[in-house]
Amino acid sequence: MQWIDHLQIGPFATDYHQRLVETEFMASLDEFLNRELVPQMDETDVDAEGTLVATFNDERFCGPTSLVRNFFTFQVSLFGAAGESDLESDLEYHPQQRTFTPRRGHYFYLWTPARKRNAQEEKERIDRMVQDFKRTHRTNFRCPLCTGKVSGVDNPGQLDVRCTENRCFVYSYHKDEKGRILHGRFMVKHPAAH
Ligand SMILES: [Zn+2]
Repeated sequence: MQWIDHLQIGPFATDYHQRLVETEFMASLDEFLNRELVPQMDETDVDAEGTLVATFNDERFCGPTSLVRNFFTFQVSLFGAAGESDLESDLEYHPQQRTFTPRRGHYFYLWTPARKRNAQEEKERIDRMVQDFKRTHRTNFRCPLCTGKVSGVDNPGQLDVRCTENRCFVYSYHKDEKGRILHGRFMVKHPAAH
């Protein structure tokens, strides 16, 4: 796939990026996407549209010692028979090696229809277990994802259930004086996290 034909690249506000983004850059991007994105795809016959912009699109970030001027924010959506796949990640371009890598701390992870479904099912399994815990206050629950140990706290101020063995999820909410759920978070570990 000729990815760059399907991407809107730029616009770039700086001289640095305007000089950088030329044929070699485009070829490197294409190569990177064929190497890192294509193997994650469920199907190859897709329509693609996406964007690549400078994460720091301003001259003041692009001086000669800048550590961020080679960061790019990439987004792509793929439309196939099975549904839509999406990916959003920051990339780092290495001009000397003419290669891209995912920016440190960013997952280059394509959310395919199957992966989205799977993540939704995982959330539902965790949610069912938490509801079970609230009802029974049993302490012998296992993590629905890794079957490891789970810790659970349900007291008048707080509901907190989490996988303590592999940190697969955190389900943690504050409650008001009537026991109603207030702010909190329900987070599942990113599937690409180690
Ligand atoms: Zn777990």
